[in-house]
Amino acid sequence: MPGPAVGPPSDSAAVRRLNLSRALRHIAERGPCSRSEVSAATGLAHGSLTALTADLIDRGLVREAGLTPAGGRGRPRRQLALVPGRVLTLAVRITRERLQVAVADLAGEAVHRATLPHRTPQGDPAALARAVADALREARAAAEAVPGAHLWGAVLAMPGPVHADGAHAFSTDFGWPGPVDLTGLVRAELRRAGTGEGLPELPLTLVNDANLAALAEYRALTPRRATPPRSLAYLKADIGVGGGLVLDGRIHTGGHGVAGEPGHMPVAFDGPVCACGGRGCLALYVGPEALTDAAGLAGLRASAGPDEALRALGEALAAGEPRALAALDAAGEVLGAAVLAVTSLLDADEVVLGGYLADWHRWLERGLAARLSGRRALADRLVPEPVPGVLGADAALAGALTYGRDAVLDDPAAVPSPGQVAE
Ligand SMILES: [Zn+2]
Repeated sequence: MPGPAVGPPSDSAAVRRLNLSRALRHIAERGPCSRSEVSAATGLAHGSLTALTADLIDRGLVREAGLTPAGGRGRPRRQLALVPGRVLTLAVRITRERLQVAVADLAGEAVHRATLPHRTPQGDPAALARAVADALREARAAAEAVPGAHLWGAVLAMPGPVHADGAHAFSTDFGWPGPVDLTGLVRAELRRAGTGEGLPELPLTLVNDANLAALAEYRALTPRRATPPRSLAYLKADIGVGGGLVLDGRIHTGGHGVAGEPGHMPVAFDGPVCACGGRGCLALYVGPEALTDAAGLAGLRASAGPDEALRALGEALAAGEPRALAALDAAGEVLGAAVLAVTSLLDADEVVLGGYLADWHRWLERGLAARLSGRRALADRLVPEPVPGVLGADAALAGALTYGRDAVLDDPAAVPSPGQVAE
């Protein structure tokens, strides 16, 4: 992923890219602001900042936005502001049934949205790649129609582990037995059908959907805290159990793309055997099958599917049915054990719940509290306080747009001056 530069940049071009990024990020997050303010906040010398902001203005990313009195003596200062419409990001969330598509600018303002049922057969990545390529072509046309806007690229969000190279995924949800180079397949589809005359190839990045949801919830939560959290653990359950870690504002994927995935975290060593080969995995206690079965809805799940069973469970909870409430009490306790395991390892500042763990938080709370309060013997402040996420089912798509925005702010030099091609 295009993360922050690690270690000292090796040459002056890399230093310049990094400094451009620091200046743009400050203007994007704190602007409108003067060059002096950017200089003071970033430590960039005023002289070099003049050249950097000239570069950002030339690329159309920043504009001069009038004068502000300096206050007391001194000259009024010229303000700099982000031009959010200069760059668009394309996001596609892939589920088993549909593609959710959005094109948005750097302020998150959408210029295109679509929900496309794909109905591609299980275990056929090529068919899925064709559907994704069709969605990308349509969304790209919408982006190209916006005057003066540069399309940065597309972020594809899907379940299952994504390898650190951002291209390969294997997904049991989609019936893929092993790694699939989905972005490679999509790229081949786009080439085969023609990407439009004279248009450069669209950069594609594949990211796990729960990781993107974690990133979006992190950004949504940060303004509500006095100091930005350094770390966040996200645990969600909907059609499956998943999660993500955000460290220092960035997704942490781990060595195999499964960091922060709690579904197969063991919570009972003598528990039932899981499809993964382990025993007592969290998904066997808080996953949709486990919850609906515990609530007496196994028959409905078998006949009408997990979505219908979950909907019925929501109704049973709202109606206060004892068996449903007991199922959530028990799930809350097991979830508490997983939260303790995650926070023991990570000492996360924030634990955020997503999917039905957020929707049904009030029914999980009693079991959660029972398990988490055990930590109080160490110190009250070490008791984790999981909070429900606020973005609901939109979190993954929002996270994909956020991921693209971050990539633009990380490397403004990739945005060409209007009328020129990218560096
Ligand atoms: Zn397992």
